[in-house]
Amino acid sequence: MKELEERILKDGVVKQGDILKVDNFLNHQLDPALFYQMGLEWKRLYEGEEITKILTAATSGIAIAAVAALPFGVPVVFAKKAKSANISDDVYTVEVHSFTHGNEATLLVSKQYLGPQDRILILDDFLANGAALEGLISLAEKAGARIIGAGVAIEKAYQGGGDRIRAKGIRVEALARIASMDEKDGIVFTD
Ligand code: 5GP
Repeated sequence: MKELEERILKDGVVKQGDILKVDNFLNHQLDPALFYQMGLEWKRLYEGEEITKILTAATSGIAIAAVAALPFGVPVVFAKKAKSANISDDVYTVEVHSFTHGNEATLLVSKQYLGPQDRILILDDFLANGAALEGLISLAEKAGARIIGAGVAIEKAYQGGGDRIRAKGIRVEALARIASMDEKDGIVFTD
C-alpha cells in the first residue's frame, strides 16, 4: 500500500536490534485516517470472503483493528495479556514470545467472544518472526473458529515469520513488506 510505505519512509526510524520505530503514526501517536485506509485495503483484498469477527492482540493491534474493522462492520476482539496466576476455565490461552520485550507473555480470549461459529480475520501491526500472529492463530484454532486470513500493517519479510505462516496455508496480507533495513542504508520494500 503506497500510502503506508510513503509514511514509513517519512516517519519511520530504524533502531538497533531490528526495530522499526513508527511511534509517530502507528504505535504511540495514532493516525486513524491512515488506519481507515488500511481497513479499506484489507476489505478490498478479502472481498468475497465472509468475515464475522476481527481478532487482534493487546496492545499495539487494538487501535489499528478497531478503525480498520469499520469497513467490515464486524466486532473486534483483542487478546489480553494475562498474569498466568489468575486464569479461569472460561478463557482460551496461549504463550507467546514477545519480540519487542524479549520475554514470554500469556494471551487470553474469553470463550464468550470466540467460538466455532466465527470466521476470523486476524489483524496486527507488525509481523517479524511470527510469534504474535501464531499465538493469535492458535487462540482461534483452540476456539474452533475458521481462520479466513490475516492482515498486518508491516511485515519485516526478511525475518521469515510470514513465509512460515503462509507455508501452513494461512493467507497473510501485508500492506508494507520490508525486504531489508538498517540504520545506515534505510528501508527497502519488496517489489
Ligand atoms: P513477531 O512475534 O512476529 O516476532 O513480532 C510481532 C510483534 O512484535 C508485533 O506485534 C509488534 O508489537 C512487535 N514488533 C516486531 N517487530 C517490530 C518492529 O520492528 N517495530 C515495532 N514497533 N514493533 C515490532
